Amino acid sequence: MKIGVPAEVKNHEYRVAATPAGVHELVKHGHDVHVQRGAGLGSHIGDEEYLAAGAKILDTADAVWGESEMVLKVKEPVAEEYHRLRRGQVLFTYLHLAASRPCTDALLSSGATAIAYETVQVGNTLPLLAPMSEVAGRLAPQVGAYNLMRFNGGRGVLPGGVPGVAPAKVVVIGGGVSGLHAAQIAVGMGADVTILDVNIDRLRFIDAIYQGRLKTLVSTAYAIEQAVLEADLVIGAVLIPGAKAPTLISNELVSRMKPGSVLVDIAIDQGGCFEDSRPTTHADPTFTVHNSIFYCVANMPGSVANTSTYALTNATLPYALKLADFGWQAALRQDAGLALGLNTHEGVVTNEPVAVAHGLPY
Ligand code: NAD
Repeated sequence: MKIGVPAEVKNHEYRVAATPAGVHELVKHGHDVHVQRGAGLGSHIGDEEYLAAGAKILDTADAVWGESEMVLKVKEPVAEEYHRLRRGQVLFTYLHLAASRPCTDALLSSGATAIAYETVQVGNTLPLLAPMSEVAGRLAPQVGAYNLMRFNGGRGVLPGGVPGVAPAKVVVIGGGVSGLHAAQIAVGMGADVTILDVNIDRLRFIDAIYQGRLKTLVSTAYAIEQAVLEADLVIGAVLIPGAKAPTLISNELVSRMKPGSVLVDIAIDQGGCFEDSRPTTHADPTFTVHNSIFYCVANMPGSVANTSTYALTNATLPYALKLADFGWQAALRQDAGLALGLNTHEGVVTNEPVAVAHGLPY
């Protein structure tokens, strides 16, 4: 199969949809891979590495899209890419179509076959979203620690303390993929970590791993209030699948938090779990509420594009190989979880939540 890897064009998107290892694997399976010149530069992967892995480098996005039966991307197409979409071509990427009518319409009018990373499932898990939750989770204590520094307006508290001085108190709300990874890094920094979740089985699992090195609490409004009032850093990492994140920390509660405390809302892409959360960007990531600092970047993994590219492509490559080796129809027949990724085909929405979101037939 002819496979294309264009450069990402969305603002501040530095990831790329295939690494040299992925190209090498696809070529080994007998496929032709066309990579747009400079596509990997945002992740510090040079054209020569793709060439050495067996890719052909093409100069323009038009050439890459035009040559390919399947296009691998990271983000949904933006307006300047819409004219390249076409019937008979498979697009495998993050789409988040429920949130974008223009992109949905562009895919439908093109007739393209679009398979979305975020709706591929294995059991109850989302294997192509999990790597980005891992990245965001591990990043959260790092950005939290940075913002706790005095010159950033923070409390001036070192997460691990030093001998004779208590460590910072870190409260993680939500013990799923991102929350557990956040807790892991906070524990590694030497912080005093408490993790809350509504799922007791999940807390049992976390408790068994950490053997007393962190505290687990069932998440109730009462427990959250007690923990948050003591906290130097709060990390919001909750998810109710398919729903807006619940508001777990009110403006009034923030008004009683320690001055200079920091709140990182990982769940901002689902509306955020703190009342005052609003999406911010890497260019201007924080704002102040009462005497606390909020960090609400909706695309945290973008700031560590190199790690994120490898984490994402580790997860997407087996599916890309399946689609290329068997053709998309046979691949989806063989793999019911991958079939859930199909969002549009020949002008029809094939994913129920997307259809419902836009009032379109399904
Ligand atoms: P997950 O499903 O693995 O974990 C969510 C956890 O929240 C579950 O364990 C669930 O039991 C728990 N939970 C639900 N309601 C709760 C409550 N009231 N109190 C405490 N815990 C509660 O989800 P995840 O993969 O960790 O993702 C979390 C959020 O982070 C999602 O909204 C995801 O889209 C987002 N995310 C954001 C970024 C970013 O850059 N900001 C990156 C990746 C993921």
